[in-house]
Amino acid sequence: DYRLADRVGKLGVETAFVVAGQAAAHAAAGNRVFPFHLGDLNLPTPPHIVEAACRALRDGKTGYTANVGIPQLREALAEEFRRTRGTSYTAENVAIQPGGKPVISKFLLTVMNPGDEVLYPNPGFPIYESQIQFHGGVAVPYGVVPGTTNFTFDIDGLEAAITERTKILIVNDLHNPTSAECSAEDRRRLAELAIRHDLLVLLDEAYFDIHYDGQSTSIVSEPGMEERSVILYTFSKRFAMTGWRLGAALGPKEIIQVIGKLNVNDESCSTHFVQWAALEALTGDQQPVREILQVLKQRRDRCVDLLNDIEGITCFRPDATFYLWPDITEAMGGKGFTAYQPFLATVLQETGVSMCARSHFGTPLPGENRFFLRLAYSGIDVAAIEEGLQRLKAFIER
Ligand code: PLP
Repeated sequence: DYRLADRVGKLGVETAFVVAGQAAAHAAAGNRVFPFHLGDLNLPTPPHIVEAACRALRDGKTGYTANVGIPQLREALAEEFRRTRGTSYTAENVAIQPGGKPVISKFLLTVMNPGDEVLYPNPGFPIYESQIQFHGGVAVPYGVVPGTTNFTFDIDGLEAAITERTKILIVNDLHNPTSAECSAEDRRRLAELAIRHDLLVLLDEAYFDIHYDGQSTSIVSEPGMEERSVILYTFSKRFAMTGWRLGAALGPKEIIQVIGKLNVNDESCSTHFVQWAALEALTGDQQPVREILQVLKQRRDRCVDLLNDIEGITCFRPDATFYLWPDITEAMGGKGFTAYQPFLATVLQETGVSMCARSHFGTPLPGENRFFLRLAYSGIDVAAIEEGLQRLKAFIER
């Protein structure tokens, strides 16, 4: 009996990792697995970025850096945000982090008191709910407008859930898992209500640059939002650098300074030579990044077409992220399933197709009556997409 701290009971996990474990076990038993479950890329980091890391290592960039990162990278990110979001950030508005994920807990630790209510998306990235509860906040979910093909955030429901104690709003525009993207009207409404209710906003923009149809637009660009927003930025997805662990928090100086103090108390600084590689990623040749997007776009189109060709499945074609969120209500019902777990287990067993479902992204909200899967096409080639989804079709239609 280690008499663990009470708070660990509130800590959640990403149950998608359980799916990964089941897929690995299925593969270890000698079966072919089609990995649609992972939000990781099977594409290598572009070589010029790898080379920059090697060069930095050879040049002795192996000691600690400042807690908030090397000035060159902070300045380059501030410049990137001035260009893409119109913010007035300088290096002082940037704290480099070991990944985007730590921004969630550090932001909450900086601004959330126990008992504060925090609005967060459900379905959504499971770490929001986990971290809100772990640090003593009250997690208040908001959902999706039922019946919208592109899974519009339920902004009316979100506003109705605001109370005296609501302090923070978390928005993941270009959304995991639904790929939802705010319209100009949504962005305007969210900004307007954040200002009216005096909310601080965490903008998780992990997928901001995974956009197949032009540049994304950030809510931080709305009038009055820069001073009340902190942005989660990550090198993970855009540059195929998930395992390098580098990201940043960007926002008002007062908040960024405290986040920097948390860095001192936590990891001291992010890995030195990785920061130089990230500088190359941001400021060097962008052609390899365009190629990554081309590959992802081809996969998206193949996946969407094949999913829509399966009886009882409907799949929207999103312009962003590398996730699909097909409605499988009829297909599941037709096979006699009323719950995700047995359905996913049977599909894995019979076809080797490994996927996540709505239940991996929060507890379904009252009134939800459709079933959804989440397929990631970031970690699977077109040939395997074709074979996997043909097997899925054969299983569903059998
Ligand atoms: N936010 C969202 C919505 C994500 O899907 C992810 C990764 O899957 C992250 C943040 C964090 O990614 P990382 O810590 O690799 O930057």
